Amino acid sequence: MRSMLCAPAGPSASYRRASGVMSTDAARIKVVILDLDGVIYRGKTALPGARETTEWLGAHGYQTYYFTNNSTRTRESYVELLAGFGIEADAEHVVTSASLTARYFADLGVLGRPRRTALVVGEGGLVDELRRAGLRIVRRRGQRPIDFVVVGMDRRFTYHKLHEAQQAVLAGAELIATNCDATYPVEGNVIPGGGSIVAAVATACERKPVLIGKPSPRAGELILHHAGAAADEALMVGDRLETDIQMARRAGIWACLVLTGISRESEVQELPEELGPHWVIPGIDHLPGLLGRSLPPASEKAQPR
Ligand SMILES: [Mg+2]
Repeated sequence: MRSMLCAPAGPSASYRRASGVMSTDAARIKVVILDLDGVIYRGKTALPGARETTEWLGAHGYQTYYFTNNSTRTRESYVELLAGFGIEADAEHVVTSASLTARYFADLGVLGRPRRTALVVGEGGLVDELRRAGLRIVRRRGQRPIDFVVVGMDRRFTYHKLHEAQQAVLAGAELIATNCDATYPVEGNVIPGGGSIVAAVATACERKPVLIGKPSPRAGELILHHAGAAADEALMVGDRLETDIQMARRAGIWACLVLTGISRESEVQELPEELGPHWVIPGIDHLPGLLGRSLPPASEKAQPR
């Protein structure tokens, strides 16, 4: 079945709604989960209306979470990055595939003594999150056995790192992928994402990794638990069908695709309806329209919901 998207009946034509989705469905939403790359910013440039929309969400009583599959930074570093765009957030409301990986190990109950060892192919944010969670981090094999090989985005990836990771997995370590995003959007282009590196390691070891980030529904479920909300009270806004939208659909969360990142509206038509977004909007500045209201003029302060 193809996903049928239709123009809304209301006065705003700034979004497309899947068939079966009622204009009143958005009124139940209390929690908004925003992807970052391709939604809030692209490269180092904020996307139009990102700051104004997040302010609008706060002023109207929505709980806002920021959820990126990027593993290169810590949550605190994302708080600073968002502040640089004029967006206020706290680390409690920022979820990254690195912080989820740390949570995965905590939930596995493997963080007691003796400390478990992880060989990391990734950047500083991932190392910091895992170290804080209690893992011993190494970059190459040594005397002690390696329990886990954790792979994420690594812009200093080398053949040597690939070899170390391969040998550790072949010697018995479990292979964990923070995310499988093939690409990563930057200004006017894309660059290889964490999934490209995961694919290299997985191919070299001939193993399928445990995937932590989107589209695993687990992260969405954790956010719902933190927010104290039901799945149908939450909306995921993302730019990538196979991660953001699929995660939302698997977790039973409402899904909205923005067209400022990776996925195109034409790709939506190729998906079975149950895997497609409930709404498609041109960019995050159209989110208030979807939620049934309009962004106020810059001089007008929004009233609480
Ligand atoms: Mg994105």
